[in-house]
Amino acid sequence: MRNPLKHWIAAAALRTPAALLRPLLGQFCPIFVLHRVHDGSGTRGHSAVHVERCLALLRRHRFRPLALPELAHRLAADEPLPPKSVVFTIDDGFADHAEIAGPLFTRYDVPLTCFVITGFLDGTLWPWDDQIAHALTQSPLPGFTLPLPAEGAAWQVDLADPGARAAAIGALRKQLKTDPQDRLYDWLPTLYAAAAVEVPERAPEACRPMRWDDATRFVAAGHTIAPHTVSHRILARLGDAESRAEITRSVARVHAMTGEAPRVFAYPTGRAADFTARDRGFAAAAGIDCAVSTEPRTMVAGDHALALPRFSLPDSVEDFVQYLSFVELLKERLRR
Ligand SMILES: [Zn+2]
Repeated sequence: MRNPLKHWIAAAALRTPAALLRPLLGQFCPIFVLHRVHDGSGTRGHSAVHVERCLALLRRHRFRPLALPELAHRLAADEPLPPKSVVFTIDDGFADHAEIAGPLFTRYDVPLTCFVITGFLDGTLWPWDDQIAHALTQSPLPGFTLPLPAEGAAWQVDLADPGARAAAIGALRKQLKTDPQDRLYDWLPTLYAAAAVEVPERAPEACRPMRWDDATRFVAAGHTIAPHTVSHRILARLGDAESRAEITRSVARVHAMTGEAPRVFAYPTGRAADFTARDRGFAAAAGIDCAVSTEPRTMVAGDHALALPRFSLPDSVEDFVQYLSFVELLKERLRR
């Protein structure tokens, strides 16, 4: 149900002149991340109708969408950001990014940066976290004992009912995010065998990647394709050589396939614990001058260019306005 106070604050926030805010709050720019966009036939992520509502609101209230590389350029050159700046990104490189999100953002003249898992587009792998969901969803067993990638560790998986199954998917993903990930993909056949599920030859339809020629068309429409590692493993959970290779190989692959040297990068899962100063250094050495996390707050002047925060696009328009306008930033300041 609609919250009348929130609605009133959102309406007032959208009408506050930007010139009033700059001296009070300094430069700021919300950066949003989307994951999946469906056209009504799917259930994963946001509906195109909701995304379009958000884009129409930007247009109606004359926000100034910037491409992430333009934001990076302005930060590096110490150039001021236009008032009402906002940036949009979408992570992983699923087919819906090119087929649904890309054309929608084009229609509203909003540049979109798509961070792609290069091994996913190359067809050599599909994201390990989606494979966990797939194996546990398809398993015919009521439960099983799962040997984990960590030496000697095992997990009791309970699939007795849909609630237990959803909880098991969440808990197993969470556990694997904290374990070393160097051998994560080598371990997946163990998961499929324990779950009594056939190893899929390729990603199922619901997890289909975009193709590289979709990526080229996406760039031709004015958007950006940028690297998001080769395999989507969490950099902080990898050894030095693996982490460096994840970054440099994905940067090189995007360069080779789009013809443009990437300047922006996104860390897989992107929480503060998921990448370190070491990984920021590897990104800088690969020619990246701006990288994004998923720390949910407004980007402000003085933020580290290799760890810019991003908000997940909220499900409600009122929440979107809160993040988009100065309201969330003001709350962040007051909380501090
Ligand atoms: Zn991702």
